[in-house]
Amino acid sequence: MRGQIVGLITPTMAVGFFVLFLMLWHRGKMGNYVLAFALSYLFFAAGFLVTHLSNTAAPYTWHLTQFLYTVSLVMGSWGLAKRANQPTMLGAFLIVYLLAAVTLGVAIAVDPDIGTRLVIVNIAYGVIKLMTMMILIGSTRREAIDKLLIAVQAIIAAQFFIRPTLTLMFEQQVAAGDYRDSIYYSILNLSVSLISVAGALVLVGACIYDQVRAVRQRAEVDALTGLRTRRAFENDVVAMLERAKAEEIPLSLVVADLDHFKAVNDVWGHQIGDRAIAAFGKVIEETIRDGDIAGRIGGEEFCILAWNCEGEAAVAMANRIRQRLSVTMIEGMPDNHRLTASFGVAGRGEGEGYGKLFARSDSALYRAKESGRDQAILDTKRAKPADNVTELVTDEKPLREARS
Ligand code: GH3
Ligand code: MG
Ligand code: MG
Repeated sequence: MRGQIVGLITPTMAVGFFVLFLMLWHRGKMGNYVLAFALSYLFFAAGFLVTHLSNTAAPYTWHLTQFLYTVSLVMGSWGLAKRANQPTMLGAFLIVYLLAAVTLGVAIAVDPDIGTRLVIVNIAYGVIKLMTMMILIGSTRREAIDKLLIAVQAIIAAQFFIRPTLTLMFEQQVAAGDYRDSIYYSILNLSVSLISVAGALVLVGACIYDQVRAVRQRAEVDALTGLRTRRAFENDVVAMLERAKAEEIPLSLVVADLDHFKAVNDVWGHQIGDRAIAAFGKVIEETIRDGDIAGRIGGEEFCILAWNCEGEAAVAMANRIRQRLSVTMIEGMPDNHRLTASFGVAGRGEGEGYGKLFARSDSALYRAKESGRDQAILDTKRAKPADNVTELVTDEKPLREARS
C-alpha cells in the first residue's frame, strides 16, 4: 500500500507540469511547442499510471505503456524541435517505435522475465532522446539555455541505456507479475521522478527565457516599420560609435523627416498616414547597406547610421532614399501624389559622441526644411578638437525637443 502511494507521486507531479505548461501556453500566448511540452507530461503521467495500477503480467500493459511513453517522448521532442526551428523527424520516431513494439511482442511471447522487455523499451526511449539531442545540435540556437536543453537530452538518453542494464545486473531475473515489487521498479520510480522534475524545470526555464526575449524584442522593434525603436537604435549607435572610434572607421548619421506630414494625416486620415510611415521605413530598410542600421526615432522621423561612409557618399545614400520615395505609391492616396522627405547628414568628427553628432545632423535637417524641403543637406562643421577629451558618449541626450 505504501509503495502504491509513493508510486503516485511521479504521475501527480507530471500532471502538475502538464497544467503548468498548459497555462504558460494559453495565458502566455506562447507557441504550440509549449502545448507539446504540456501533452508530453500528460502522456507521461498516463504511462506511469498504467504501469502502476494495472496487471504487469498482462502483455497489453507493456504495449500500452510503451505506446504512452513513446508518445510522451515524441511530443517533447516535437516541441523542442519546433522551438529550435528544426525538422521534427516524426517518421524516424515512428520507425523506432514500431521496431521496438514488434521486438517487445516477440519478447513477451517467448520470455516470462521482464529483463529483455525492459532492455528493448529503454533502448528505444534512449534512441528517441539521442535523436532529439541530434536535432537540437543541428540548430543554430546556442544560448546557455539551448546548451542546457541539449545536455538534458544527453543525460536522459544515458539513463535510459544505463538503468535497465545496472538494475538487472543486481537483480538477475524478475517475473512480469512481480515487477512492481522489484528493486528495478523502486529505482525506476526514484530516477524517473528526479529526471522528470529536473527536465521539466529546464523546460520551464526555456519557456520563461523565450517570453523575456519576446518582450525585449517587442521593445526593440517598432511595430509599424519593423525598424529599431528609438531606444534600441540609440543603444546600437553608441556601441557602433565606440567601435568606429577604436577601429578608426568613418561613419555618418542621417536624420530624415517626412515633409508636410501633418497635412497627410489631415487630408487622408491617420490610417493612411501610418501606411505612409511604414512605406518610408521600408524604403529606408531596402536602401541601406548590411552594415548600416536604421531606427524610427519619432512619429515620421527616422535616423540612419551609415557605417564606413562619409560626406558626399552619405548624402548620396540619402538621395537614393529620396529618389525611391519619390516613386513609391501609398495605397489610399491619389496615384499622382507622392511623398517627399528632408534629410540632415553629418559625419562623425574625431572623438565625437552621439549627442553632438545627432545635433549636427538635426540642424542640417532643419536647414533642409528651411530651404525648401525634399533635399539632403550635409553639415560641414566638425567637432572641435577639445571635444576629444571632454565628451562622454553615454551621458549624452539627443536634442530632439529643441525643434519639434
Ligand atoms: P515638416 O515638413 O516641417 O516636417 O512638416 P510636418 O507636417 O511633417 O511636421 P512635423 O514633422 O512636425 O509633424 C509630424 C506629424 O506626424 C505630427 C503628427 O500628427 C504626425 N505623426 C506622428 N506620429 C505619427 C504616427 O505614428 N502615425 C501618423 N499617422 N501620424 C503621426
Ligand atoms: Mg515632418
Ligand atoms: Mg517630424
